[in-house]
Amino acid sequence: MSSHRSSSRASTITQIDVQPLDLPLSEPFAISGGAPNVAQNVLVRVTLADGTVGLGEAAPFPVVSGETQASTLLALNDARPRLLGQDVRTLRHLAATLAEVCPDEPAARAGCELGLLDALLRQHHLPMWSFFGGQTKTLVSDLTITAGDTEHAIAATQAALLRGFSTLKIKVGAGSVAADAERVIAIHRQTQARGVASASVQLVLDANGGYSADQALLLLAELAAARVPIALFEQPVARADRLGLLEVARLSSVPICADESARTAADVLWLVQSRVVRAINLKLMKSGLFETLAMYEIARSAGLQLMIGGMVEGPLAMAAAAHVAAGLGGFSFVDLDTALFVASHPFQAAGLQHDATWDLQAVHAGHGVTLAHEEK
Ligand SMILES: [Mg+2]
Repeated sequence: MSSHRSSSRASTITQIDVQPLDLPLSEPFAISGGAPNVAQNVLVRVTLADGTVGLGEAAPFPVVSGETQASTLLALNDARPRLLGQDVRTLRHLAATLAEVCPDEPAARAGCELGLLDALLRQHHLPMWSFFGGQTKTLVSDLTITAGDTEHAIAATQAALLRGFSTLKIKVGAGSVAADAERVIAIHRQTQARGVASASVQLVLDANGGYSADQALLLLAELAAARVPIALFEQPVARADRLGLLEVARLSSVPICADESARTAADVLWLVQSRVVRAINLKLMKSGLFETLAMYEIARSAGLQLMIGGMVEGPLAMAAAAHVAAGLGGFSFVDLDTALFVASHPFQAAGLQHDATWDLQAVHAGHGVTLAHEEK
């Protein structure tokens, strides 16, 4: 008998349920690559021998990773027999098993890892931020201005400023460079028009790999000519275009951030060794939980800036990302806003205020997100 199997323990995994979690969006999440109007996610429910239940959410984002709701359900159904009967306290062992069964399904792995970790922490009445180190307990997210026309960008910016957001992440790379330059300049003017109160609003660009190196550099030149300060330029070129990334990074005066180019710890090691980027966007759904921790350590050791981000995630996966980032500490950019784009969901999220500020102080066990109809 393996030492991991002992059905008499309270920490034995007795049940893993997976089900589709369709989250209708209040507006299409338009980025370079596509504009989904529903997030087709997966809910993972892990039950332990003593009845403790942990919840996880997988958020496959087809236009970014190729994973789908169907592939996620299949991957987790394949993994289930390997996890049942195991001891939830052997999380790294379980994560390694998941990596073996679904190596190319990071969102599936992340959703399952979160369900397992939530079960473990609820059983021991430990909040997730504490498990990751308890560096901080509060995070304030930026707001994404999705791809669209200039009119949409202006309206979205006005709404964001009214709500007090101080960092706006602008999706570019879906249209022409000229159209993007016009949008970003218009957004900048909105932040200026509002006077001293919003003088500190910072703008981040994210092309999701939608540009060539020449296009990315042209956009930066047009924005520089219009005196629009940009704090960070995320993923200007496609993941496969390493030479393009090197060229943009060499010629850009704006710091470059890798997102799609940083999927694994090996990716981050390459980015560090090539001195290509100044920041990395970490996402649980892009890499899985434990791989994300390895990426964090490499990036931190190399002195890179960190962003915590997400796919199109409901409040559960977003909350888990907030716990990871707050607990580990050191994140200069927080992009955990997709709960703002979700029109309806079945969750009750302790710690989420006004949809974009995370105050995890009140969370006493796990990630603190429950199903509203099961709220005790
Ligand atoms: Mg990104």
